[in-house]
Amino acid sequence: MNLRSLSSGLRAFHRLQCYLPRQPCLHAQRVQLMSSSSPQLEYQHVGLVPALTQLSEEEQMMKAAAAKFSQEQIGPLVRQMEEQKETDMTVIKGLFENGFMGIEVEEEYGGPQSTFFITNLIIEEIAKVDPSISVCCDIHNTLIALIFRRYASEELKKKYLPKLVSESVGSFCLSEAGAGTDAFALRTSAQKEGDYFILNGSKMWISNASFADVFIVFANADFDQGYRGITCFVVDAGTPGFTVEKPEDKLGLRASPTCPLTFVDCKIPETNVIGRIGEGYKIAIGSLNEGRIGIGAQMLGLAQGAFDCTFPYILERKQFDKSIYEFQAVQHMAANLATKLETARVLVYNAARLKENGLPFIKQASMAKYVAGEVATEVTSRCIELMGGVGFTTAYPLEKLYRDCKIGCIYEGTANIQLNTIAKELHREYLQGN
Ligand SMILES: Cc1cc2nc3c(=O)[nH]c(=O)nc-3n(C[C@H](O)[C@H](O)[C@H](O)COP(=O)(O)OP(=O)(O)OC[C@H]3O[C@@H](n4cnc5c(N)ncnc54)[C@H](O)[C@@H]3O)c2cc1C
Repeated sequence: MNLRSLSSGLRAFHRLQCYLPRQPCLHAQRVQLMSSSSPQLEYQHVGLVPALTQLSEEEQMMKAAAAKFSQEQIGPLVRQMEEQKETDMTVIKGLFENGFMGIEVEEEYGGPQSTFFITNLIIEEIAKVDPSISVCCDIHNTLIALIFRRYASEELKKKYLPKLVSESVGSFCLSEAGAGTDAFALRTSAQKEGDYFILNGSKMWISNASFADVFIVFANADFDQGYRGITCFVVDAGTPGFTVEKPEDKLGLRASPTCPLTFVDCKIPETNVIGRIGEGYKIAIGSLNEGRIGIGAQMLGLAQGAFDCTFPYILERKQFDKSIYEFQAVQHMAANLATKLETARVLVYNAARLKENGLPFIKQASMAKYVAGEVATEVTSRCIELMGGVGFTTAYPLEKLYRDCKIGCIYEGTANIQLNTIAKELHREYLQGN
């Protein structure tokens, strides 16, 4: 089922009910109970708050649709894409056809107007099968579509959002050779000339770049203002002066193109500025805060994919005339990994639900990304051990997932940067007495 048709059908129901019909949204009511000695405040539940992992009907259906698409249409191509180090474009076409690109885009721009939580469920399901395709879907939804929806002029929204929903892939272009963690040290310049800006400089590590049509590029329009000169531009593929260079050869995510870009006197109309001049740093921070929940979902899916592949094997594999799962040491390893997966899932879902409900989520987003990255590293490694020699071969997806997971601790803020953010938020909360 296509997300667009499903979403519009379910939306009215969803607005009213929020959660599963068997578990409607209910509220805890605070009542004051008087005792003989002193007044006591207690919570009397007139209903139950749904568990974080409890999914609405729409969420369940979209999760199932993404799982089906991933298994049937991505699965058979994973090894070939990995070996050829290239995304099969039929998969990208399938992402669009199933409504997995521009998931939250409003109906007036042709989108399914679904939710951020569903976006993360879809990213998770795709990552179970191939994290390279998942990152394409993640960046397109949680960074590119978000930036257009939240910050672009009505003219840019009308021009780009319908394409981002139906056919055009987006790239997010912030990092440079000298500006990684210190992203706002970027040196790409944007010089104003009449009604245009002239872009000069280069970018590094840009995902989706070899097949993207729409590039969101951060460049500094006034170096005297420091990071307050950083401005966000939309650049179309094929614009004269703009070149996508050869993809990097990488440890993991091999099917996902990661390319340098160069800009030489690249002329961009001033109407292509997203937000205001000098607001680029706010746009980058704002979108990455949300984007890192998506990376958490990607790492969660990747780790779950590794576990799902391992568990049936350890039940069936016999040594000493019995299933290796009968050995308590093996059971404990599996139980430990399942517990860590649940920890990551709860953190990712919580951050996504907080964001969706308009509540503060920055600390929780960093926690989710940090923990999901660590969990993916441990789960993939231990799953290879649990499968013994075959886990080390290309006969199973584990060696690939083991390589793919490393990126979770690097992009959209390294593990250290997530810890910096958590520490900063803790300090702020402590000073505020929260
Ligand atoms: C496969 C891949 C895809 C990518 N996709 C994109 C993309 O689509 N768009 C984009 O703009 N970028 C992208 N990136 C870039 C990515 O976001 C950066 O690699 C990342 O931000 C880290 O920057 P760096 O590589 O320069 O490492 P560095 O910044 O040099 O960091 C190296 C080490 O130093 C540590 N460090 C640095 N500063 C601090 C500090 N203040 N406190 C504590 N530790 C610190 C880091 O934690 C890290 O361990 C991608 C990268 C890769 C590898």
